[in-house]
Amino acid sequence: MGRHFLKDQDFQAFLRALLKAKAVVGPVAKKHKFVFARLEAPGDLRLDYDVTILPPKKEFSPTSQDLVRFDGARFEGCVEPQEKILFGVHFYDVKALDMTDLLFKEKNDDRNYTAHREAATIVVSNIQKVAPRAFWASIGSEVKPKGHDAWLTKISGGYVFETRTAKGEALLQYGKFVPATEAQFRAARQANEDILKKCPEKLQGSSAEVAKKVRAAFSREELWTKFAKDCFSCGSCNTVCPTCYCFDVQDWWNVDQKSGARTRTWDACLTEDFAKISLGSGAAENFREERAERFRHRFMRKSAYLNPKLGGPACVGCGRCSMACTADIADPVRVINEILEA
Ligand code: SF4
Ligand code: SF4
Repeated sequence: MGRHFLKDQDFQAFLRALLKAKAVVGPVAKKHKFVFARLEAPGDLRLDYDVTILPPKKEFSPTSQDLVRFDGARFEGCVEPQEKILFGVHFYDVKALDMTDLLFKEKNDDRNYTAHREAATIVVSNIQKVAPRAFWASIGSEVKPKGHDAWLTKISGGYVFETRTAKGEALLQYGKFVPATEAQFRAARQANEDILKKCPEKLQGSSAEVAKKVRAAFSREELWTKFAKDCFSCGSCNTVCPTCYCFDVQDWWNVDQKSGARTRTWDACLTEDFAKISLGSGAAENFREERAERFRHRFMRKSAYLNPKLGGPACVGCGRCSMACTADIADPVRVINEILEA
């Protein structure tokens, strides 16, 4: 689609017009960190963020979501999508959304996810500040971000705004955009290329090498026991991950014992009960009882098991897990590089 340019002095007016017309969610400051939240004023938007605590996935698959509400024999679905603009998403989070888009549609169309997703317009922002544990430049570079409607890049004097879809084009009406010159487009492309050289962490192998070696390390019990030795089984590494999509489903009954809701909440495979199943008569079986088994499972999922389906690893190198892990053992770069070296 088109390449456009917006001057610095016209950017706030563009945001103001957008906020007046639509619900806009973007990165905002929360103390010394950042979160995706509804923008109340143009000044809330912080395109200089490094990474958000939780990924934008929560806009489509909230931490807790009613699937069905019931009252006696009456049932009603809870698909209540709201049109919104997700503004300022980094490219690695778009890659993660591409994965959840595929996984939530793979066998059955999960309308509780896809309806929210279809109602959204996604605007990418170039990365202006790099997170301390990021490694997005060295993982899955063969997979390009797809599911976005426009791409905004800060350059000297303003912003290059590349539209990818009709939804992205529709945003042009809110700002004083002019056609971008060839020099401005080249400057934007350079800015997006240059940032890739600034990643603080780096994987030492291609996706194919990583997948092969991690899989081959499956039976090395001593290695996984060592990696997981300090694990608290808290599940934080799962919870902050943009590509994790497991959930638990429970029915909640009101005191009238007739009405209630079937609700899904995020689940985490590092937690002790994740793989626990009932055998009936009060008996239970946990098929990943040991911390090392759960730790290994996460690495298999992120770097090997899902690759054939996704066309690359199920990790986008955001570094959120490394930053969220109290024990500082979740960093994929450290674990995978050690496996590669062995
Ligand atoms: S495994 Fe860690 S680095 Fe990879 S996508 Fe998930 S949170 Fe980000
Ligand atoms: S690896 Fe870290 S974040 Fe993940 S469950 Fe263990 S202690 Fe928690």
